[in-house]
Formats: sequence, C-alpha cells, structure tokens
Amino acid sequence: MKFIDTHAHVNFEAFKNDSPEVIQRALNAGVQMINVGTNYKTSARSVKLAEEVGNGMWAAIGVHPIHLAKDITEEANFNGQRYAFTTASEKFDKRAYFQLAKSSKVIAVGESGLDYFHLEDFRATNMTAAEFVELQKETLYEILGFAREIQRPNIFHCRDAYDDFVELVRDFGHNETGVTEQVRGVVHCFTGTMKQAEKILDLGLSIGFTGIVTFPNAQELQEIARQVPLDRILLETDCPYLAPQPVRGKRNEPMYVRYVAEKIAELKELTIEEVAETTRQNAIKLFRL
Ligand SMILES: [Zn+2]
Repeated sequence: MKFIDTHAHVNFEAFKNDSPEVIQRALNAGVQMINVGTNYKTSARSVKLAEEVGNGMWAAIGVHPIHLAKDITEEANFNGQRYAFTTASEKFDKRAYFQLAKSSKVIAVGESGLDYFHLEDFRATNMTAAEFVELQKETLYEILGFAREIQRPNIFHCRDAYDDFVELVRDFGHNETGVTEQVRGVVHCFTGTMKQAEKILDLGLSIGFTGIVTFPNAQELQEIARQVPLDRILLETDCPYLAPQPVRGKRNEPMYVRYVAEKIAELKELTIEEVAETTRQNAIKLFRL
C-alpha cells in the first residue's frame, strides 16, 4: 500500500537529530511526503531536504499567518521533550520566495492563510489584534497572486477564520471583468463545520484531514469526513504535531498517516487500500507530482 502524507514538517526542529531515519522509515512504509514551510527559514530547509532526498519528497514554501506577528510563542511537548518557537514578525518577501520556487521540487505554495486563534489572548508586541487581522488578509491576497504567477496550487492554513477565508478566496478568484479564475489548493487540517466544508468544496478546493479525525471526541469532524467526497480528500499528518489516536502524545511522523487513512476508511465503510490509493491520486493530480 502506498500513501502520500501531503502535510509534514520534517523540516522542523523536532526532527533535527533524526530526520534521515524518520524519512527512511516513511519511505520503507510506502509513505511519500510533502514537507511544508511556515516561514522563510523552514521553507528553505524544506526545499533543501527535498533536493537531498530526491524521490518521494517534495516541498511547499510559504508564510504561516502566525509568523507575521512578533513575540507569539508556541510550545509543544513530544516524548517528554519541550519544543517552542517565538515568532519574529516576518514579511512575505516575494523576491526571496521566487528564488526558492526555481527548484523543481517546489510543488505548492504554503502553508499560508488566516489564523484568528491567538486573537482571544493576543500578545504580539508590534501590532493590535485588528492590525494583525488586516495584515493576515493582505498577505494572503499577495500570496494567492504569487501562487498564480508561479502556477502552483496552495496549501492553506485556516484556524477559527473559515468565513473570512472563504470570502477572501472567492473575491480573489473574480477579476475585474467578472471572469472567474479558480484558486487551486487544499485547506489543510480542516476543523470547521459542515457548512464551512461545503463552502470550501464549492470553491473547488480539497480538504485535508489529520490525526484529529481519529480522536474519540472529534465526532463532528468524523461526520464531515464521512460526507466529503473521497476524491476531494487529502491525508496529512502535520507532524510533529497531532499524532493520531494509537500514538497520541508521541511525536508524530509521516509513517503514521496510515492511521488517518484507517479512520477515514472506517467512517466511509471503504477498504484502507481504496482510501490510500484514491487520496494518493488526488495528491498527484492537485500537486502535479
Ligand atoms: Zn502545518
């Protein structure tokens, strides 16, 4: 059985000491992967890794909305070890990203999007919450233009912001003459409502499911996974985060994408082979692998 983990971060600090082993374990298990960047540094590392590994690994380059603010700290614990990063108010530097995109390994732009999670407890030191929202929207609009210019699909990050996200993408897709040019891409790690999922499907985008769908308390998300057509679903780990139920609390890695496939197969009453193969073809088609 073969899988594509369409959203991995083997380019992150958490894999600093053993990324070759992690990658080899995945490839041995039939799992190919797309490593996703979140700022310039992790995007550049993602391209470098994909070039070094060659077959079975690709890169996405982007700026995650959280990195637009200054001094937001995020931390996580895996296997009893603490990992943290603090954001540094990065601008989307189109010229620098153009240079990265010259690599044939760059198959998507992302992850980029809107993230309103931190607005409730806002601690960025260089702007107000309203300014942060505005900056996120401006940057996303700019990145949509960049993706169109370099003719790559998008990997979107969206958290607590689905309605604004749908509005912005829809607006971008209509040019001055009223002609609709569809934005291509996937909304990664979907955690919204069924209504929001429908709007995303109406935009022509795919929906990515992570290990969250395997959690016992994720009943609403499981119902959504049941209803989203299989040909619009991509499988992801979002490793090192969000390890699926059987390995919950551990550091996640691409190999564990099979647990996400297993859960979707169970929900849709399909075989895991069918889920693995259809979602793999979806990734090949969307990212032109
Ligand atoms: Zn991610």
